Amino acid sequence: MANVFLNKKISNRIQNGHPWIYSNEINTIDGNTNTGDIVSVFTHDKKFIGKGYINQKSLITVRLLTRQKDENINDEFFFQRISEAWNYRKKNGYEENCRLVFGEADFLPALIIDKFNDYFVVQTMSAGIDLWKPAIAKALGRIFSPKGIYERNDVPVRELEGLTQQKGFLSSPFDTNIIINENGLQFYVDVENGQKTGYFLDQHNNRKTIQHIVKGADVLGVFCYSGSFEIHAAHYGAKSVLGIDISENAVQLSTKNAALNNLQNKCSFQAANAFDILKSWSKEKREYDVVMLDPPAFTKSRETIPQAIKGYKEINLRGIKLIKKGGFLVTSSCSNLIEPDIFLRIIDEAAKDAKRKLRQVTFQTQGADHPIIHGIENTNYLKFLITEVL
Ligand code: SAH
Repeated sequence: MANVFLNKKISNRIQNGHPWIYSNEINTIDGNTNTGDIVSVFTHDKKFIGKGYINQKSLITVRLLTRQKDENINDEFFFQRISEAWNYRKKNGYEENCRLVFGEADFLPALIIDKFNDYFVVQTMSAGIDLWKPAIAKALGRIFSPKGIYERNDVPVRELEGLTQQKGFLSSPFDTNIIINENGLQFYVDVENGQKTGYFLDQHNNRKTIQHIVKGADVLGVFCYSGSFEIHAAHYGAKSVLGIDISENAVQLSTKNAALNNLQNKCSFQAANAFDILKSWSKEKREYDVVMLDPPAFTKSRETIPQAIKGYKEINLRGIKLIKKGGFLVTSSCSNLIEPDIFLRIIDEAAKDAKRKLRQVTFQTQGADHPIIHGIENTNYLKFLITEVL
């Protein structure tokens, strides 16, 4: 096993528990390494830090898997880590669906596993973890006896690691259109062609929190994808629900999901660009009791933060203008680079521009199956705000 020695002057980030080691933090590498090999990492004065996998093609050159000198990285290691991740979810009340492994927050950097009942969707987003796919599939087999495992590695971030984008079965083939239960409702999940892993599990709890504010309401849901928030609104007693998404597939999926729950009479879905319809409908002075906004991440890099802020302000300003006095705005952001206080500031500015007052009902984050590790910034990403609009 090769040994990696870090520079003398590096930030405390690694010491404080962050698993990433950037290329410019490395002084020397003692021994030959192939992409993905397990290496031992030491401080400049040869104190053991941990073991992880290396990729010299990546700016994040080492990702640490353990801080224990005597812990070996092998199939059993992955079985143990995934078992621990499952125990944590069970302790937090998850049974059927959950993000089973949330990368760094489960001490398995660059690995995502979503559990949809007996089916599992895996993403391995670095070269090091990619090599352990067989061990991961084996561990899932031992813990769950799954009906199927699918790899959704059609993600551009893999290219930064010199990996190709790909998807396919990690088990025997199965029908990739499955149905899951959430909060007493049912949803189709297309694990092969759906967005990301097929379904956004992170809003699971947040969807429940709209329960009271949508009763008897005319609801507009923008960026609806599978119609999940919208169908919850109809289920919780909304008078009418209109869902908007730019993707025709999303509109079809939402329509199918509404019918699956026998809520097709209350829900309709329409393909449109949110920026266009929010602008023209606010000019037309359309009115809703509740407007829900759940856009995709507007930025994935620091350089585009200013544009993202503009985008969030724009949709929230237009959204607020559509809300009747005393109605509610339900608004989210999943960009980890937009910090919670910045998000709240954007919404405040939007309200000010719309000449409306806000009264916060709740400000939440992602569900407990996406735990946040303090000191690992990208684990804290979802902002979910409900405010009354006066
Ligand atoms: N609310 C959903 C998740 C939404 S994901 C849920 O609870 O599961 C974001 C969605 O925004 C995607 O479906 C994407 O197709 C859609 N989208 C992206 N840009 C858009 C735009 N300009 N106008 C409308 N929808 C857009």
